[in-house]
Amino acid sequence: MSEIKNIGVLTSGGDAPGMNAAIRAVVRAGIYNNLNVFGIKRGYNGLISGEITEIGAREVSGVLRRGGTILKTARCLEFMKEEGRKKAISMAGVFGLDAIVVIGGDGSYKGARDISKLGLPVIGIPGTIDNDISSTDYTIGFDTALNTALEAIDKIRDTSYSHERCSLIEVMGRSAGYIALTIGITSGAEAVVVPEKEFNLDTDIIRPIIDARNSGKTDYIVIVAEGIGGVMDIAKDITERTGIEARATILGHVQRGGTPSVQDRYIASLMGVKAIELIKNKELNRVVSLKNDKIVGIEINEALDMKKTLDPHIVSISKMLAI
Ligand code: ADP
Repeated sequence: MSEIKNIGVLTSGGDAPGMNAAIRAVVRAGIYNNLNVFGIKRGYNGLISGEITEIGAREVSGVLRRGGTILKTARCLEFMKEEGRKKAISMAGVFGLDAIVVIGGDGSYKGARDISKLGLPVIGIPGTIDNDISSTDYTIGFDTALNTALEAIDKIRDTSYSHERCSLIEVMGRSAGYIALTIGITSGAEAVVVPEKEFNLDTDIIRPIIDARNSGKTDYIVIVAEGIGGVMDIAKDITERTGIEARATILGHVQRGGTPSVQDRYIASLMGVKAIELIKNKELNRVVSLKNDKIVGIEINEALDMKKTLDPHIVSISKMLAI
């Protein structure tokens, strides 16, 4: 294939703190390597509608510390259909884009794979707070979201302690329990419920709370992953069954914002540079991944075929430390 000169970058799916650091790294490493870098607005929507403008090195000044994404993000239903993707390809042609870098989650990767099949080379960068992308040990935004959630839960623990209550906290993660499990261990939760395991109220929540009370505890934290849901009803059940007053808090979108942590800025920066290295080396249609502490490129079909599961050892640690 001919020399790559112009590349596009977009953010897609749910936003995550650190996406800006990744955009900045793509822009600056791209320019450093004599590429013209174009920002595409609102995910795949902007690729279809032509909301595409060249970005200079100065335009990404000051974005490292900003949460969210300066390119905006959105879901794009039109892109789920072949017709929408064909429109995107033809618009990429209008701007002379030779490749695009997609920063997003699993869904965005699927979209990227589909346009690569239509002849536009892609590189994926994992950006989601959920850490649920199979091909990588880490996704940009996970650490910041964990710290935001943990700070809130520490505060809830103070009031739970004073009132001798049980606090149920729903954390994000869609159908994955990585946030819930990590937060469970680091907040010292009495119980953690994740969607990867079938939920049983008696064994997963009621019994651990009663055991905790019988061993002398007077306040309780239960972390419930978003994929389980129904925290208000679960709180009612706990109160009815144990006599302990239970209150539910849904942390929600607060977890998606905030200034990115050191880890998210650092990994996003290294991943953005890796995306450009892959493009320069013509190692296209790959996703950037952190694997065993190394940033590598994995072929996109192979990446999408991979499976990721919660480590049962870590699940057992969350129980061991809750006694
Ligand atoms: P995330 O990237 O965070 O997983 P989504 O699952 O919402 O977020 O995906 C973001 C966008 O990627 C969707 O709005 C759609 O445009 C595109 N996309 C998702 N799944 C597919 C798919 N199976 N085929 C093609 N495009 C997809």
